[in-house]
Amino acid sequence: MELSKIFENNEKWIQSKTQGDPNYFENLAKGQKPDVLYIGCSDSRVTAEDLMGMQPGELFVHRNVANVVNAIDLNAQSVINYAVKYLEVNHVVVCGHYSCGGVKAAMEAKDLGILNPWLRNIRDVYRAHKDELNAISDEQKRYDRLVELNVKEQAINVVKMAAVQRAIRKRGMQIHGWVFDISSGKLIDLKIDFKKVLEDIMEIYRLED
Ligand SMILES: [Zn+2]
Repeated sequence: MELSKIFENNEKWIQSKTQGDPNYFENLAKGQKPDVLYIGCSDSRVTAEDLMGMQPGELFVHRNVANVVNAIDLNAQSVINYAVKYLEVNHVVVCGHYSCGGVKAAMEAKDLGILNPWLRNIRDVYRAHKDELNAISDEQKRYDRLVELNVKEQAINVVKMAAVQRAIRKRGMQIHGWVFDISSGKLIDLKIDFKKVLEDIMEIYRLED
């Protein structure tokens, strides 16, 4: 791939944006007020804004291998805190995807070096749902289900944060768990009842009265 192509593409993109609105970038530079925080996988096929038809300024994004939300990952914690506390997003989306290499790797007995502690977050999800997952004999279906359960558990990890609990209580911010199906292009809402999840885990994870 010729990288010069990227700069040519950029010029075309600027033209397309300013065609109907000459002040497009001037206005964009004034600031951001995105309504949605999107936490997804780094996979090159899962293009956050593109697949949702979102424009610059509409989506605050955090992506890492297998859309993991870990309590001691300063990066994810900073992004979520900033989005929830200062940008005051109304929706936090954790979006996984089928055919996720990170999730697949966590199902295999393989030493992946520095990726081991990262993928262990997903092995922990497997352990928490071992009975359900082991009951699925079709390996592909078990893999797909782990992708979904990983979304749910990472979204629960979002709910464990103080700023998130406050935003849910004070201004009705919502959490969502979605999966992107690469083979069809479809975005699927797992329809996880986070109100119920919140009630179930608050006994342990509530951080303020
Ligand atoms: Zn992935």
